[in-house]
Amino acid sequence: MVQKGPRPLVLCGPSGSGKSTLLKRLLKEFPDKFGFSVSHTTRAPRPGEKDGVHYHFTTKDDMVAAVQRGEFIETATFSGNMYGTSKRAVDDVRRTGKICILDIEIEGVKQVRNTDLNPLLVFVKPPSIEELERRLRGRATEHEEALLKRLESAKREIEFGQQPGNFHIMILNDNLDKAYTELREFIAQNVQIKDQDKKNDATK
Ligand code: ADP
Ligand code: 5GP
Repeated sequence: MVQKGPRPLVLCGPSGSGKSTLLKRLLKEFPDKFGFSVSHTTRAPRPGEKDGVHYHFTTKDDMVAAVQRGEFIETATFSGNMYGTSKRAVDDVRRTGKICILDIEIEGVKQVRNTDLNPLLVFVKPPSIEELERRLRGRATEHEEALLKRLESAKREIEFGQQPGNFHIMILNDNLDKAYTELREFIAQNVQIKDQDKKNDATK
């Protein structure tokens, strides 16, 4: 069972669109307010990624078994690897009273949007596929095959992200400062809504 708490914030967008960059900035500016939901993945760690911090790195067998035990809120296969948000990952953040941030792809969004987590859904859009490719190549974290798979998924993801009703806000990350300001403003508005909800709950 997942603890009750403030509405989680979901960041979704093609690989390389800037989710981690925006998230890192948010966590740095508001360390007491937001906490990152550490996902599980079967992909290999990138240089500098720490187990339990960036991801819980696991094997396919272990992850499938954990899914069968009902330990996950959502799971997806992306670029040949499994990814998922465990109930515990969200609980761990909620127990601290912080707002939980999930960085997940679109199949995961479809699974969490109608749960009682009632998440705020943010889509981060790159300026173009060409710029996305430049950024992914610049990041230099993927082999060519994995990079091409990510670009292929990106087209489908952007289509889904742009469809009205799929997200509460779409942020175009052409300029990082501008994108971050938009994200902050969106959060500021919705945190007020959350405080109002809390007051309403208290009167029940
Ligand atoms: P994601 O987490 O969505 O896969 P990242 O945050 O890792 O994407 O960003 C991909 C790359 O693009 C990184 O190298 C990052 O520094 C760079 N980047 C992010 N936002 C911008 C931007 N507005 N302009 C230029 N480069 C950016
Ligand atoms: P990366 O391998 O670049 O870290 O992540 C690849 C994709 O997987 C990104 O779109 C990211 O948002 C997504 N992702 C990361 N964790 C999860 C998760 O727990 N669930 C789902 N559905 N997607 C995830």
